[in-house]
Amino acid sequence: MSKTKIYLDNAATTPLDPRVLQAMMPYLKESYGNASSIYSLGQEAKEAMEKSRETIANFIGAKKEEIIFTSGGTEADNLAIKGVAFANGKFGKHIITTAIEHHAVLEPCHWLEKRGFKISYLPVNKDGLVDLREVEKAITDETILISVMQANNEIGTIQPITEIGKIVKDIKAKRKERKIEAPIYFHTDAVQTFGHLPINVNELGVDLLSASAHKLYGPKGVGLLYLRRGVKIDPLLHGGGHEFGFRSSTENVAGIAGFAKAVELAKKEINREYKRLIELRDRLIKKILAEIKDVQLNGHPYLRLPNNINISIEGAEGEAMVLALNDAGIAASTGSACSSKSLKPSHVLIAIGLSSEKAHTSLRFTSGRFTTEKDIAYLLNVLPRVVEKLRAISPFSKK
Ligand code: PLP
Repeated sequence: MSKTKIYLDNAATTPLDPRVLQAMMPYLKESYGNASSIYSLGQEAKEAMEKSRETIANFIGAKKEEIIFTSGGTEADNLAIKGVAFANGKFGKHIITTAIEHHAVLEPCHWLEKRGFKISYLPVNKDGLVDLREVEKAITDETILISVMQANNEIGTIQPITEIGKIVKDIKAKRKERKIEAPIYFHTDAVQTFGHLPINVNELGVDLLSASAHKLYGPKGVGLLYLRRGVKIDPLLHGGGHEFGFRSSTENVAGIAGFAKAVELAKKEINREYKRLIELRDRLIKKILAEIKDVQLNGHPYLRLPNNINISIEGAEGEAMVLALNDAGIAASTGSACSSKSLKPSHVLIAIGLSSEKAHTSLRFTSGRFTTEKDIAYLLNVLPRVVEKLRAISPFSKK
């Protein structure tokens, strides 16, 4: 049994909602068919999968055929970036992204760089926002893809996706006028926003969008890439031609049914949850800043995910704080769960201008559907004592 009593790391993953588990069970038990089989058992699975595809497509204003199920956010990001690069590299070899993307975007970009692509990593300001003028300035006739995350997983900053969508639309029109054949596509990694902020792919003006079920109380190992009709990508997985030929492999029907249930629940609760989490977040930020000296909030003061708090606490090392909080039964994070194996400071915190030393004193709390007022009160009771203790033994502390 875990000693975690209070879970404040919902950006790393969310607990599976029991209603989601219930929706998945039939496809793990009696309806176990392969969705490609033509007998009843297979067709039941296919029906569940297609219904799920429709629920999810409706949720973001997409068409059913524009949803490609994947094994998660990482695969969706890889499929978007490498898929566009492979299919359109003959028109141009330039991709624009930002310095604060998740590794699931940055690593495929680095990989492509070694294979002849030119990648522009746009800087962000101290709040973590990209500058629209920088986006416009970076675009050349060689640019085939712009990938900007909707919200950052570490500092929670929400990017002006609709505005970037308008820039891309404008470039598309100009290329048409100039009879330039090269396409330019816009991708957003919406892994942290999907199910938490309202998303409409047409209003955002995106051509590709990645999401992952385990960030919205769904199961791990299932995600999606929204692929606007007509956008050309090459698949990464070749085989039986599943998912409209874009992603071969027998479908994870239970996972997909769970993803759709998670979306259905999110849709019902999104407005109420959004308000509730913002209230919890802002109250917690205010109290932490009032009760603990020399604390700085990282990320944008209000253009940020409703559940995200990222702070730097002078003289208290991040990993040590996470371990001390764990002893008190609280799960928090130093930043991104995916990079916590490395000793390097977070690339996101460095990109917003923090010193390496300050980046190492960062702590992230991300609340969620199951976070209560009582949980926050407990954290507020424990945190000042943990900080005081660690500052007392820190060589960096002013004491
Ligand atoms: N993109 C972002 C912004 C994320 O936060 C994550 C997970 O932390 C991913 C991509 C990767 O998603 P997955 O864990 O489903 O592969």
